[in-house]
Amino acid sequence: MSIQIPRGTQDILPGEVEKWQYIEKVATDLCRAYQYNEIRTPIFESSELFTRGVGDTTDIVQKEMYMFEDRGGRSLALRPEGTASVVRSFVGNKLFGNANQPTKLFYTGPMFRYERPQAGRYRQFVQFGVEALGSEDPAIDAEVLSLAMGIYKKLGLRKLKLVINSLGDGGSRQAHREALINHFKPRIGEFCSDCQNRLEKNPLRILDCKKDRDHELMATAPSILDYLNEESNAYFEKVQSYLTSMDVEFVVDPTLVRGLDYYNHTAFEIMSEAEGFGAITTLCGGGRYNGLVQEIGGPETPGIGFAFSIERLIAALEAEKVALPIHQGVDCYIVAMGEEAKAYGVKLLHQLREAGISSEKDYLDRKVKAQFKSADRHQAKYVAVIGENELQENKVNVKDMATGEQEEVAIDSFVDHIKSKLV
Ligand code: AMP
Repeated sequence: MSIQIPRGTQDILPGEVEKWQYIEKVATDLCRAYQYNEIRTPIFESSELFTRGVGDTTDIVQKEMYMFEDRGGRSLALRPEGTASVVRSFVGNKLFGNANQPTKLFYTGPMFRYERPQAGRYRQFVQFGVEALGSEDPAIDAEVLSLAMGIYKKLGLRKLKLVINSLGDGGSRQAHREALINHFKPRIGEFCSDCQNRLEKNPLRILDCKKDRDHELMATAPSILDYLNEESNAYFEKVQSYLTSMDVEFVVDPTLVRGLDYYNHTAFEIMSEAEGFGAITTLCGGGRYNGLVQEIGGPETPGIGFAFSIERLIAALEAEKVALPIHQGVDCYIVAMGEEAKAYGVKLLHQLREAGISSEKDYLDRKVKAQFKSADRHQAKYVAVIGENELQENKVNVKDMATGEQEEVAIDSFVDHIKSKLV
């Protein structure tokens, strides 16, 4: 029996992988413009990093983490998300000591969660994310949001909704927490067992519950925005005014929450509003986490970041029918007739490739006609034909496949000729 690919994973084959490369390049280039630098961290970490950094009451840690013991008896986990690792590295490498602050980082790579696979939800998926550590200027919040939106827009997505909220500072959250407990407590018996557990531990997460989403107490739950103190309100207003001045459109949704204790102030999500996009419309999620660095053992350092998966981004591009500008064909295909020409073809092919020109030849001993067919399949822009005549005259016959035009080119200037055609 053949061996199947693990559930919730996928192979990304040639033809598809170019989209991934293009997306990563657009995202990376924009990160450069915003002055975010790449960081690469291990795919597995100490399990404890995530129980502390993501939170041991979250589904991610309780139900979805791929944990294993290594041969030395250490408890390790395949990373379910990127922020905890970035913060661990920031602390371990003392990046907070660098003169250049805030520390602005981006990462991309596979994440692993044991979730029920469905459209837009995989067990291995690739996240692209950024983290800005060391500044509590609302301008950084606005910058991070505009960078996320900027990547989507650069790729051609239009049907997007940026939803923002503020969770306020510690004081605001405490007041809101008490109001939530008072609101839900009398009827908590009508909620699922998870919510019953959440009531005292983390009542904010009740608002995020998928099972109890339609319970009448959900709609009437106290809004965090009514509990923001003056400082938190001013902070949130600044973020909004910066976004407005950058022409980044957004809507405020007071029910948007990030359930972890150390999340505060800005929380946001970007949704796709494209018709036909699956049930899961969230493309990107992020927020401010001013307590996380301390939780991981570093000095008190504010932080904010986001992450999105490339899988959902590609699904959104498909839903909006955006074609990425990807040319998968070769620039020049060499058709050789006869043994001597074939040998010369190998040399010319090498020269083309050395010059950075994508080029190909036949390796299956095809007849000339079949070589031309192969050139077509490779979507060749130019076909260079070498036969005995051409060899004798030190020439190559170059055919422009778009126009059908042909010209004789001296062998010595062949590579330069192709190069000049391609600019
Ligand atoms: P989270 O870390 O849960 O806030 O997720 C951030 C983003 O990662 C989401 O908005 C999705 O784009 C993506 N994401 C999360 N889980 C999955 C998954 N299982 N499969 C594909 N993408 C995911």
